[in-house]
Amino acid sequence: MFDEVIDGIRGIFGHPTGPIPLHAPWFDKEDEEAVAACVRSTYVSSVGAEITAFEQDLVKFTGAAHAVAVVNGTAALHTALMLAECGPNDLVITQPFTFIATCNAISYTGAAPVFLDIDADTLGLSPDAVRAWLVKHCTMKGRACVHSSGKRVRACVPMHSFGLPMHIDALVAVCAEWNITVIEDAAESLGSCRGGKHTGTFAPMATLSFNGNKIITCGGGGAVLFGDADMAKRAKHLTTQAKVAHPWAFSHDATGYNYRMPNLNAALLRSQMRKLPHNIAVKRELHERYNALFAGTPWTMVQEPTGTRSNHWLNAVLMRNMQERDAFLSACHAGDIQARPASELATDQPMYTNAIHGDLAVSRDIQDRLVNIPSSAYPKQNPLT
Ligand SMILES: *Cc1c(COP(=O)(O)O)cnc(C)c1O
Repeated sequence: MFDEVIDGIRGIFGHPTGPIPLHAPWFDKEDEEAVAACVRSTYVSSVGAEITAFEQDLVKFTGAAHAVAVVNGTAALHTALMLAECGPNDLVITQPFTFIATCNAISYTGAAPVFLDIDADTLGLSPDAVRAWLVKHCTMKGRACVHSSGKRVRACVPMHSFGLPMHIDALVAVCAEWNITVIEDAAESLGSCRGGKHTGTFAPMATLSFNGNKIITCGGGGAVLFGDADMAKRAKHLTTQAKVAHPWAFSHDATGYNYRMPNLNAALLRSQMRKLPHNIAVKRELHERYNALFAGTPWTMVQEPTGTRSNHWLNAVLMRNMQERDAFLSACHAGDIQARPASELATDQPMYTNAIHGDLAVSRDIQDRLVNIPSSAYPKQNPLT
């Protein structure tokens, strides 16, 4: 039943035999030289010019006002949630259809996640679901949005799934009414825009990841984007052990974190940044080829939402039901093609089975039927070998 699409995937990647990875990183001589030059400089750690330069590159590319580079995307989320003042008496709204890091970062602060449904057209948190839940369960007490449990709803973390921009403008409007801080988890959507505006610039804070499977990578890395200069400054302070600037003294004015990105990683990322427009173009072309491959089959490619431009970080296809999804995954596995289901819903993981949640029908339906298919930007060959 799946022979034709499996042959088609091999055709697209020009690999008649051998494994086809879900997402392979891509490095060239320029990347290699950037790392070597940084090593030669000896400035590989927490001091160096590459970090600030990379933060400026991010600002230029996304249009965000400020960027703070950190060790990974999970630390970026934790940092943003701390700046939103999330703590043990708070709730944070998010979607169960996400990578587990989004939920874990909420737990690190002591706050409890609230899981609400996604929209079928974006696979991101539904502004309508958020509004309905707030109206039903919360009231404003002064400037605080208070849940019937007595806990305060402090923040909301939507995620731009697989690079598809969710309805962030509508969500920001709902959260403004209820004085809830929005943090965009844009780990998967570097290069994606809604209405010409880059994801990660709609809310006061947004987070990025440069893990090995993301659209550009330095092995491990992350960043927080900010609209406000003072918040960016506080993030830099918190992520560098809350060290007070001084020519020689070591003093610290808070419990800080060692979340700063090493200069070596930033050097590689600056080189990777130069390839980002090219990576996006290749991924968008790959998406069109998949659209052609799946046209006329019973299976549906997930498309970019109306009014958006997706980086198509990971291509996704919807099967008709879970049995068919599992049969397709088996066929891909047998054919040495790395495909995978979406992350299991957070509410199905033991840490979150008792979490507060709304009706999750769309999340459940999408999770049951979705398969991510190979999406490397440079599938054919590694230029270093
Ligand atoms: C990759 C990812 C993260 C975490 O990034 P790390 O750099 O691996 O810590 C967070 N959220 C989402 C949605 C991701 O895809």
